[in-house]
Amino acid sequence: MRKPHIQVPEVVRMKPGALARLGLYLARPGLRQVLLLHSQGLRSSILDQARHSLSAYGVELQAAAEVTEASVENAVERLGALPKGTQAIAGLGGGKALDVAKYVAALAGLPYYAVPTSVSNDGFCSPQASLTLRGRRKSLPTGLPYAVIVDLEVCAGAPVPLWHSGVGDLIAKLTAVTDWKLAFHARGAPVNDLAALLSDATVYQFLASPTRDEEGIRLLATALMLNGVAMEIAGSSRPASGSEHLISHALDTVAARPALHGLQTGTAAYLLSRIQGRGQHERIAEALARTRFWESVRQAPFSLADWRAAVALAPSIKDDFYTILSERDCWPEMEAWIAEDPHLRGCFTP
Ligand SMILES: [Zn+2]
Repeated sequence: MRKPHIQVPEVVRMKPGALARLGLYLARPGLRQVLLLHSQGLRSSILDQARHSLSAYGVELQAAAEVTEASVENAVERLGALPKGTQAIAGLGGGKALDVAKYVAALAGLPYYAVPTSVSNDGFCSPQASLTLRGRRKSLPTGLPYAVIVDLEVCAGAPVPLWHSGVGDLIAKLTAVTDWKLAFHARGAPVNDLAALLSDATVYQFLASPTRDEEGIRLLATALMLNGVAMEIAGSSRPASGSEHLISHALDTVAARPALHGLQTGTAAYLLSRIQGRGQHERIAEALARTRFWESVRQAPFSLADWRAAVALAPSIKDDFYTILSERDCWPEMEAWIAEDPHLRGCFTP
């Protein structure tokens, strides 16, 4: 039996203006020398705020570097070039920068500060980094961040589709947990009940106020963060990722231009929840309708051919990972619903 030894974030700040206090959050536990890794094309005002904040609280910015490539090779190179005396690593921005910063911090054994500028998926506080190794995508264990700093004002200024992506990644937890339970019944895959419960609970917590204002963003960020904690408790990605994530990973492989992660997982969760038949479909439908999720999907509709190929590829994406897709070919049902469901009108092109 696995004895969980979990490490959770010690510093969590979710409020407007949190970025301007980043220096304070580093200085308090005595972290005075920091490496900052940030996203490409980050608004200069955000970067300036981070820099000013560090100097205002007496924290030395040893180096600031833009991350353009989320690969293990790139992370190892940055580890080799780590300035002497670095006491903490901060990741500022989205996807790639946060994954690389988290992985470099894990390799170096340094505290990691996650500073997302949007809440578009659960990656800012998950215990793994999504990086390529020799060109192939891997999820590598890192542990959770030491600190999670979410400036609600900054995140509220992020484009609407990024918020919808966060909603889609959160809603996917309902199908993920259902798949986890299916895997238990079919294959005896161990389920950690607390992690499953926590994952479920985060979705309902968000649905209490699914708005794109600062309060809604705080709830979404909290929910996504607690999913990272559920993964840490479970010792696997099961509480946060099931068949809908397999389809999203497959789309990332087959599509010429993959959509935002959460737009893919949210749409897949909507379709798969109907096939799973565990009473989650109506809830997911309502959440996606209330948040106007489909508007962002319609802005850049999916290719039906990509989805057909992705659903065929999805069951073989991960070894020993039982989901609803392991039970039968789900595509004929999915294709029929895509054609007739009024919510999905305009979301797919032939
Ligand atoms: Zn996800």
